[in-house]
Amino acid sequence: MANIERTLVLIKPDAIEKRISGLILDRLDRLGLQLTGAKVVSPTEELIRTHYKHLAGTPFVDGVVDYMMGKYNNVPNHKIYAFVFQGEDAIAKVRGEIGSTNPEKAAPWTIRGSFGRIIGDVMQNCVHASGAPDEAEQEIALWFKPEEVLDF
Ligand code: UDP
Ligand code: MG
Repeated sequence: MANIERTLVLIKPDAIEKRISGLILDRLDRLGLQLTGAKVVSPTEELIRTHYKHLAGTPFVDGVVDYMMGKYNNVPNHKIYAFVFQGEDAIAKVRGEIGSTNPEKAAPWTIRGSFGRIIGDVMQNCVHASGAPDEAEQEIALWFKPEEVLDF
């Protein structure tokens, strides 16, 4: 039976600054999934801290929050582009295409391996994608209202 999943993708401020959001979308589009939600968000710090609640208490959390708020990149209004993709094994397919968290260890042909960098203790890795089905549903509910996502 098909394992239909949804996943949240965020294009982070470094990728917006580098003007590679189209390239990232093109790579994800080729995975054959359905794009069911898309928006531009100017996130509050609270939204970022909730999204990254599993990082609370780490020495790098404040740096990661600053990164997601656009403080390290020249992006007016600290924009993030948010997407929902749906389809068979969507979570593993998207995570495979974006690569490992650490851009220096990610396979060179992945998005993070190609375009990510580490500045100080923050991995500016261009794109977020959900890591598991329960995480995906929590994240989609955090970033999107139900009516903003198509339901096939
Ligand atoms: N991060 C970082 N340093 C670390 C671990 C994580 O800067 O040692 C940042 C990085 O941008 C990462 C995000 O925090 O994408 C969330 O971390 P997580 O472990 O959830 O990695 P992901 O699921 O994004 O691969
Ligand atoms: Mg994660």
